[in-house]
Amino acid sequence: MTMFESEHITATNPTGHEFTDRYRSALLNAFGPPQRVLVRGEGARVWDADGTEYLDLLAGIAVNALGHAHPALVAAVQQQAESIIHVSNFFATPPQIELAETLLRLAQAPDGSGVFFANSGAEANEAALKLARLTGRPRVIALEDSFHGRTLGSLSLTWKKAYREPFEPLPGGVEFLPAGDTEALARALAPGDVAAVFAEPIQGEAGVVPLETEYLLAARRLTREHGTLLVLDEVQTGMARTGHWFSHQRIDGLQPDVMTLAKGLGGGVPIGAVIACGPATRGLLQPGQHGTTFGGNPLAAAAALAVIRTIADDGLLEHAQQMGELIEHAVTALHDPRLVAVRGAGLLRGIALRDPRAAAVAAVALEEGYIVNAPNPTTIRLAPPLIIQESQLRGFIAALPGLLDAAAARGEN
Ligand SMILES: *Cc1c(COP(=O)(O)O)cnc(C)c1O
Repeated sequence: MTMFESEHITATNPTGHEFTDRYRSALLNAFGPPQRVLVRGEGARVWDADGTEYLDLLAGIAVNALGHAHPALVAAVQQQAESIIHVSNFFATPPQIELAETLLRLAQAPDGSGVFFANSGAEANEAALKLARLTGRPRVIALEDSFHGRTLGSLSLTWKKAYREPFEPLPGGVEFLPAGDTEALARALAPGDVAAVFAEPIQGEAGVVPLETEYLLAARRLTREHGTLLVLDEVQTGMARTGHWFSHQRIDGLQPDVMTLAKGLGGGVPIGAVIACGPATRGLLQPGQHGTTFGGNPLAAAAALAVIRTIADDGLLEHAQQMGELIEHAVTALHDPRLVAVRGAGLLRGIALRDPRAAAVAAVALEEGYIVNAPNPTTIRLAPPLIIQESQLRGFIAALPGLLDAAAARGEN
């Protein structure tokens, strides 16, 4: 037996339980036990190792924008793989250049703007933080309840103490302000020594909590007044997720200095991006100051281009908007006192529960064939593929009261 012919690989049809046992013994326990082992997907549906079908209303946390196995994404990845997959940043490739141009166009970035490609959301924010440091100013502001990633730099911008404390000391200079408090922001910016303000237009991990329009516009005005960069983290909210290419585009006049992207950008192929808007921002980064081996590789860039083309050609911006409204209306029309609000925009939605039972509801939902998640004890998050069909959403919403009954019957949270 060679090292590649282990008994595991030659065994036929291992069950979900067998896979889970192997997962536990082979992977570090960073995520707890997997809920299921998934083997295949098509559109908004996935199947586990035991052949059970699920409706995927989470899309790998707002990643699988086109759903699973979309022919346009499959073809783009296949064609690019047959041509060239990786070249390093000593060289450039046409898909990388075309993707940068396309993103600048979609972002309506002014002349002189530029893109830096990374491989994930954390890395995109890490690069944005390094850009901010290059202003020479010592302070950085992030918001309470923020999530910007798990690398040390992006973690320094992330609010949750449980994520941060085991890894302190983190890069310094970051201060947290309450989201929505314009006065506090004005006071913090007044000395003129703040490099950047980082904000998510909708705080996804916090439970899909949108920042107020007035607050975002005030942040734009104040940062401009004090020469501070406004960095919008659109990692979760970008790429048509909210029915706009980028969620800040729902607000007139809200052009960030820097925007970070990842999640939906590659439709499942890892890629992140930083868009530096305007010549001043772009000029901060000089050759040799930052880099990444895989960033901007043509495979990921070709995938992202296919995602963008499909969103545009298939009217998925409008579809995301319409399906988002449908979720809001249909959940409200249930008149179920246990469902107290529907937050978010487009196809990034938080259904607020009266009782802190979201984890149990998500667990029951999975048993009933629906993938959703609970970013906090009172929120069910939906971030389905942008190709989700009306009937699929209606089916889940009709099932919701029964899921709440079953979760309550368990008596656990
Ligand atoms: C997911 C997320 C990140 C981190 O992205 P990774 O690809 O997991 O590193 C950063 N910011 C926001 C807003 C996110 O939702």
